Amino acid sequence: MQTLAKLRNVEAVDFDQCRTGLETTKPTRLLVKRIKLDSLQGLRCNHVKKQFTRPDGSTYTAAHESTVQRWVDGPTGRQRASKAQGEYTITLCKIIVKAFHEAKQEALGTESPEKEEAPVGPR
Ligand SMILES: [Zn+2]
Repeated sequence: MQTLAKLRNVEAVDFDQCRTGLETTKPTRLLVKRIKLDSLQGLRCNHVKKQFTRPDGSTYTAAHESTVQRWVDGPTGRQRASKAQGEYTITLCKIIVKAFHEAKQEALGTESPEKEEAPVGPR
């Protein structure tokens, strides 16, 4: 990872996944090259801290409820609350796909379809 980060033109994009809809903060670093993820860069948790109760009855204050030893109902039944942390949210996937698409368009030297002018009819 550190060797990869030192490669030329490789940029680190740091953000918290809670800002893309994940239920936990999950600070994340993506290493990218020629991919613009400006909308994610520096996006940090800005959620209001609340009081939560642990299974043992003790309380704590945090922006997001801890997933440690917590179970939720998932699509395939009861699962650890931490399971979702291993997956990107739809919002994050869309941002990444859009960035890849734009990078490809830029590499091809073409504009995205919505920016193209309307076709000119026969003269
Ligand atoms: Zn947050």
